[in-house]
Amino acid sequence: MRRRVIAGNWKMYKTLVDTRAFFSSFLPLVAASKHCDIVVAPPFTAVSTAVDAAKGSSVAIAGQNLSWSKEGAFTGEVSAPMLVEAGCRYVIIGHSERRQLFRETDDNVAKKTLIALESGLTPIVCLGETQEDRDAGLAEAVLSRQFNGGPGALTPEEFSRILIAYEPPEEFSRILIAYEPVWAIGTGRTATPEIAAEAHRMLRRCAGAKFSVRHASALRILYGGSVKPDNIHGLMAQEELDGALVGGASLDPKSFAALVNFA
Ligand code: PEP
Repeated sequence: MRRRVIAGNWKMYKTLVDTRAFFSSFLPLVAASKHCDIVVAPPFTAVSTAVDAAKGSSVAIAGQNLSWSKEGAFTGEVSAPMLVEAGCRYVIIGHSERRQLFRETDDNVAKKTLIALESGLTPIVCLGETQEDRDAGLAEAVLSRQFNGGPGALTPEEFSRILIAYEPPEEFSRILIAYEPVWAIGTGRTATPEIAAEAHRMLRRCAGAKFSVRHASALRILYGGSVKPDNIHGLMAQEELDGALVGGASLDPKSFAALVNFA
């Protein structure tokens, strides 16, 4: 079994005061949780505050997006080196809100994934089909297009950077994939564990076909879409699910801690 990851995406919520309050409640609740990786992605303005608040704990901080350029005249953008300097270790790339509302393309996702890796960040690359795609029987086609056009567009060398960590040492791909069906995000309509596992298997097959079986089995794939303390049990019972990317339920320290402690 691959080591699990529970990542929280705060989206455009929480001020600095809220961020400090969250960590003072959350950290004691997960202090004994050594079994999974814990990640929190606050808004950019709260990254430094979150990094300070999480210092000395096992909670890592993520950016919610980044530029595909290291620097330049890109008003409003934030670069990978800036995130690293601020203390981030992860970055979310290609979230469906960015794809749908901010015209993020597969090509951008590929460029951002590469720059994140080059800068030492762990990318959490999101992909997922819409309800219309699923109803039209296109879920697999959309997922494979998003995989192959995004992280799958990297060379095997770029994709294959393997991190050996933990005791005993384990092999992981540095890239995390988050399968997030758009119809399940923020809707309360979680994918059934079977639907999620089927999509994960299909994405792992894409990684195996593009890279190698070894890389596919080292790839951690998270599920995202209305994960809550009352449905995580069924989802995590599926071996294919290597953790969760959580929106709404990550805003509350008690519910996010319940997810971490269950994983
Ligand atoms: C998300 O934004 O990545 C997400 C999964 O949101 P929610 O858990 O609220 O559906």
